[in-house]
Amino acid sequence: MPELPEVETIRRQLAPHLHGRLLRALSVLDPRWCSPAPPAALADAVEGREVVGVHRRGKYLVLALEEEVALVMHLRMTGTLLLVAAAQDTSERPHVRVRMCLDGATSPGGKAGAGDRLLFCDPRRFGTGVVLLGDETLEDYFAARLGVEPLGPDFTADALRALARGRRAPVKAFLLSQERIAGVGNIYADEALWRARIHPLRAVGTLRPSQIAELRDAVVATLEAGIDARGATIDDFRHPDGARGSFQDRFLVHRREGEPCPRCATPIRKLRAAGRGTYVCERCQSRPRRRRAATGGAARAIKPPAAR
Ligand SMILES: [Zn+2]
Repeated sequence: MPELPEVETIRRQLAPHLHGRLLRALSVLDPRWCSPAPPAALADAVEGREVVGVHRRGKYLVLALEEEVALVMHLRMTGTLLLVAAAQDTSERPHVRVRMCLDGATSPGGKAGAGDRLLFCDPRRFGTGVVLLGDETLEDYFAARLGVEPLGPDFTADALRALARGRRAPVKAFLLSQERIAGVGNIYADEALWRARIHPLRAVGTLRPSQIAELRDAVVATLEAGIDARGATIDDFRHPDGARGSFQDRFLVHRREGEPCPRCATPIRKLRAAGRGTYVCERCQSRPRRRRAATGGAARAIKPPAAR
């Protein structure tokens, strides 16, 4: 499933090709993509407008059009955006759910016609699109769905500590909740927790300030490494030109069950956290101790700490 680095990779590749071009036609071939809005309403709102920006927020990709019209897309499980020449846009191409036709050259000095079609392809059909009118509507849309942007200036250790305070949720589930931190999914959560030496089942509210600071840095470093590798291609993720990401070759723990931990060589274990397959080194990331009954806790509290 595409996460922040995969969507950012798409954004970076599309932006120079789409900027300044006219979105001539939008054909939604599968109405589920924009349900409950009818496909014709989307076409009416966007057709004939120039692309003025290609943005990302969390895992959403935003095509900003003239007069504050925004086409907001989410790839979900298996969505991809392919930029192809009209001649390559044939009926044999599978899983095309939305077709966008563009006018004008693809980039300054680029050949006219080289990237005239932007196709939203999606075998499992969970991807979505919505048109929002006005920048305020766009802001409200994201404010209702997404928390802090982890690569933005607001994602500080203090901000993360405030988000975590008092929460009993396991830290992995916390990282995956888009309403708290936008864009982190299963891959990048596992990698960040390993870097920060934090067990995924640890209650996020019990992390020490130093651990919170390490987690913040680990999330940023992991996402940046993902972008640097142009995302991870495990199943369907492709760049707009059809190429694959390479971050899957750099995984430190994710999908490496039984292989040695890169830090201590302990075999990596797979367990379940937040309903997802989760990979840990239980030597580097020590498992949270079970809560004792009140008496047991009290008995432990009066024992002097072991000398080190
Ligand atoms: Zn280890």
